[in-house]
Amino acid sequence: MPSIPSGWAPSFGNFRVGIAQDLALLARRQIQLGGHRTGQKLTARAIAQNPACHYCGQPTERDSSGQFRWAHDGCVPKYEPPPPHPSMANPFARLLYEKMSAISEDIWRAGWLSGNEYALWENLQGDQHDYGPGAVAHEDLDELRVLSQHAKGWIWTGRGREHTPQLVTFAQWDALFAEASKAAGEAGAEQRDWTDLELPEESE
Ligand SMILES: [Zn+2]
Repeated sequence: MPSIPSGWAPSFGNFRVGIAQDLALLARRQIQLGGHRTGQKLTARAIAQNPACHYCGQPTERDSSGQFRWAHDGCVPKYEPPPPHPSMANPFARLLYEKMSAISEDIWRAGWLSGNEYALWENLQGDQHDYGPGAVAHEDLDELRVLSQHAKGWIWTGRGREHTPQLVTFAQWDALFAEASKAAGEAGAEQRDWTDLELPEESE
């Protein structure tokens, strides 16, 4: 049975107000999500040509690796209460989370079906887009791809019964997904069943 995390939504507080601001930001920066197979190329080019703060539009400094920063620290809206995990201060991480949650809601009537991040990742990588009783639309997969590229990572909700949405880098995610794949395989299912998958707590 899918498990629906409970009790986390209220703690998000102004998190959803933040989402509205994030979407307005994307509109101002003309960042297009989904709906176009070429969307990600267009977006990547627009950002490369315009190394400006995503909020105020003024030029940004280069960081230690020589890349232009995506925003000035002072321009990033601060949310009260703060997001449930510091990594979710990244607006692209929040939008990615919202999109992943919306797909779960559409298909399962659950804000975050247990194992949602694994199932959607598998969908994103493969040709098979079935998800439980439904299927993930190409437009939705495009949107996930664009958002994860901007966020530079993927959303993970943590180990055990914890539900703490957080952005992890692609390298971290690759390791987590490999660990989860092994666990799902050991369950003996012919098809991977990500629901009810719990990664054990990390040993010290
Ligand atoms: Zn700025």
